[in-house]
Amino acid sequence: MIVAIDGPAASGKGTLAQRLANTLNFAYLDTGSLYRAVGLATLRAGDDPSHEPHAVKAAQSIDLNMFYPHELRSEEAGIAASKVAFLPKVRAVLLEFQRSFATNPPPGKSGVIMDGRDIGTVVCPSATAKIFVTADLQVRVDRRVKELRDKGETVIENRVRADMEIRDARDKDRSVSPLTPANDAWILDTSNLDADAAFAQAREFVSAKMLEKSL
Ligand code: C5P
Repeated sequence: MIVAIDGPAASGKGTLAQRLANTLNFAYLDTGSLYRAVGLATLRAGDDPSHEPHAVKAAQSIDLNMFYPHELRSEEAGIAASKVAFLPKVRAVLLEFQRSFATNPPPGKSGVIMDGRDIGTVVCPSATAKIFVTADLQVRVDRRVKELRDKGETVIENRVRADMEIRDARDKDRSVSPLTPANDAWILDTSNLDADAAFAQAREFVSAKMLEKSL
């Protein structure tokens, strides 16, 4: 059983995916962290994340334990991630890793939840349940500003907004695996929902899909 959760930055998909995975005893893979790790690895090597040969080399030797979680979640990593994610050869390397995780969940787990941008469309097109989580740009900017301030970072809201717009555009407009809902995805707009309400709706949807599959 595979649950695919896609959506733009700060839509709430990560929190939602993690909570669903805990509740259902499913394995969880945050695929954005793979792209973030590749982006950071190229920066740390002094390379340009947009340079395909360097980014591919980083993707081939990627290890999520190379970085602390706070390094992976930084804005620097997010921006570098969206640059390497633009490159078809990087996506091809990471696609293999993601599919292998989806088809071989760790022992004791009854399924897999993966969140990203192209899980329902490209990585796992036959997923049992697909959710596309979205929210208005301003709502997502407010959430990201709060998240950064809670971490003690000094934040300029306009800068966060501009970075998010650039990242959204890069994710939506790329030729390979652009950010778009799968035809059979359920759209969950969290603009007016708190995390608990979004979780309740998503859980109901996934439970219905699981029941459908078992019949
Ligand atoms: O979800 P997160 O913000 O961590 O993703 C960072 C970046 O990685 C995204 O902006 C996107 O460019 C890229 N990404 C992707 N495909 C995925 C997951 C993330 O292109 N499945």
